[in-house]
Parts: sequence; structure tokens; C-alpha cells
Amino acid sequence: MLAQRTSLFSSSGTAAARAAAKAAAAAGKEIFDLTAGEIWTDLAPSLRAGARDAIDRGINRYSETVGIEALRQAIARRLSVETGQLWGPEEIAVTTGAKQALFNAAMLLLNPGDEVIIPAPYWSTFPAQVSIAGGRPVFLDTRANGYVPDLDALAEATTPRTRAIVVNTPNNPSGTVYDRTTLAGIAELAIERDLWIVFDECYGTFAHAPWVHQSIVAMVPEVRSRTIVVNAFSKELGITGWRLGYLAGPGEVVKVAKALQSHTTSNPNVIAQHAVLAHLENSDGTFEQQLRARLGMARTKGLSILSSLAHVPIPAAQGGFYFYLDLAEILTDGQSADDVVSFLLAEAGVAGVAGTTFGDRCGLRLSYGVPLAVLERGLRSVVKALNTWSGSTPRVKSAS
Ligand code: PLP
Repeated sequence: MLAQRTSLFSSSGTAAARAAAKAAAAAGKEIFDLTAGEIWTDLAPSLRAGARDAIDRGINRYSETVGIEALRQAIARRLSVETGQLWGPEEIAVTTGAKQALFNAAMLLLNPGDEVIIPAPYWSTFPAQVSIAGGRPVFLDTRANGYVPDLDALAEATTPRTRAIVVNTPNNPSGTVYDRTTLAGIAELAIERDLWIVFDECYGTFAHAPWVHQSIVAMVPEVRSRTIVVNAFSKELGITGWRLGYLAGPGEVVKVAKALQSHTTSNPNVIAQHAVLAHLENSDGTFEQQLRARLGMARTKGLSILSSLAHVPIPAAQGGFYFYLDLAEILTDGQSADDVVSFLLAEAGVAGVAGTTFGDRCGLRLSYGVPLAVLERGLRSVVKALNTWSGSTPRVKSAS
């Protein structure tokens, strides 16, 4: 008999979607897999060189628990530029991906029964970690408000038990970039009600013009003392497998994160740390520019293909690398995006992630971080299949 908490460990829906795609491919079907939360890319040369150099220097031992000092300094310098405020290494904890940073945050903020407001649709790890830490996720439906929190609804969702709000912008899965008014309103509410903000900006380098990613601590400096900024190099540099992220926050937060990490992972992978440090010190930004340009092209191409959808609005795709389709118009009562995802896999050979994974019966997430040829063929197939989706009673197409 295992511990009760194991019931909270349901594995991620994204992984299940990917597994279904793999199984279909193994059965000999051509599958366009648009499920992944990562970008298909080569390694940045400076990362490759940095990792090789660390290995050649024989680096093999535990590092400082929250990351080597030089890397924390480099991250602090970068945050200082991004936020226009001074940051020091004592405010940075390097982590094993953003996931560990978020897990640290949940573990160090929450007492049993504390509530955390999570705008829905949401990346499913947010509520899972809150629950594992003993807290209670409280979902705030954002669908009717363009997938950003309505400030009045947010205020109404707070209770005396509310401890924190999760802010993820650019957002996974919806692809929205939170506007200044929304961020300022969230900051104001957090100050007024004495709440923490967990600010996940893992997709921050992928805001597509005219949308601009704003750091909440840059916009409202008074909120910094109650904010844990979470970021990673996973998406930004296309190194999801290297597992390197960080949290930035008040020194007392970093201190307890360090204590927690000392009993969980000891330190983030040391070769990855040295490689990212080399990248931060030596790269001129060309790699990131090229990656952004490639994603921009994929987004433009994808949106043009999706504009042929007859009964589904074109997604905004303001940031990140996901098209998030709202299937509300084509779902009948009793149906959900799961039905559409199964249909697309069987009929169109396309794998996507159903919004049910993200707390949204009507959403469909399609990644455009894949090779362009896969994206084009996959999306054409989606359009053809959805335009003939027989489970639908289509109404008029709504505006994008
Ligand atoms: N935060 C968000 C919003 C994500 O979508 C993801 C990964 O998909 C993460 C955090 C985790 O990132 P990492 O791979 O660095 O742990």
C-alpha cells in the first residue's frame, strides 16, 4: 500500500498525448506530432563549447547547492538589465529546470490548506505541485476574457486562505501575453491582500510583435519582495533535456530553497551550469535571434494555414510557441477536446494536446516548435479534418 499522496501524482496529460502519438507511429501510421513543449533546434555553439570545456577541465563534483557563484552572478546581471533593478547572486537559486524552481516555491510558501489561484487554462504542473505541497489550487476561468484573468473575478476568487497567485506569461497553453493593465492589477491585488506572486516567465523571450513580455517586478517594483520569479533556459535555448532553470526572489526565499535543494537534488547538473555560463558570457545573441526568427516564420505560416478553419477562431498566438484553438463552436454538449484529439490522431494523423489537460474542455494545443515541414503538413491535415468534423453542429465563425 503506497502513501495517500501518490494519488496526486497523475502523470502529465502532455506526456500521455505524446505517448499516444508514439504508439500510432509505432503501428506504422504517419504522424505529425504537434504535442511537444519544446523547440526542435540544434545546440547553440557556445553551449556546446562550454559543455565540452567543462568536461575537458574534468569538472565532476558537487557544485554549490543553488548553483555556481559565477552563474548566479551572470543571471543576476541579466535580470538587472531585464528589470531595470539591481539583483545580486544571493537572490538567485539555480535549479533543475523551472519545474524544480516552481516545486521549491510551492514547498516553501504553502501551509496545509493554503489556496493558490491559478488562471485556467493552466500548465498542469502548477496545480499538481500545489496539491503535493499540501495546498489547494483554486482555478480562475479566463476563457471569456481572452485567456487573461479578469481583475474583478480575480479579486473575488481570493479568500483569507489565499496565499499566492500563479502568473504565467507568455502563457502555456493559451499563448497569451499578459497586458500591462492586467499585470498592474494583479500586483496591486497582491499588495492589498498580502499575497505572493509566482511569476513564471519561461516563455518570456518568445513574445511576438506587437506583443511585448513585461516583467511584473519591473512594472511594479513594490511587488518584488512578494514575488518569486521563475525562469529556465529550457525553452529559450532549446535545451529542455539539460534541466537548467532558476528562481529569483528575496534572499530569505533563496535561503530556504537552498536548504530544500540540499535534500532533494544537491545541485543542478554541473556541466549544464558551466555550459550556460559560457553561453551567457560569450554569446552575442545570434542563436536566440535566429531561433526567434524561425519561430516567427513558423507562426506566420501556421496562422495562414489555420485561417482556413471554417468553424474555429484563429488563435492569437501572442507568445510562446503554441497555437491554442478554441473548439467551443464545434463541440456539442457532452463532447470535449479529448474527442477531437482522438479524431485528429485517427483521421488526420496529427497529435495535439487536449485542453482537458489544462482544465479547459474546449481547447486544443498545437505546438509550432517543430520542423516547418511537419508543421505545414500537420496543420493542413488539421484544417481539413476539423472542417469535416462530423461531431459538430457548427454555428457561425467568430472573430479572432
Ligand atoms: N513553466 C511552464 C509554463 C512550462 O510550460 C514548463 C514546461 O513546459 C515549465 C515551467 C518547466 O520548464 P523546465 O523544463 O525548465 O522544467
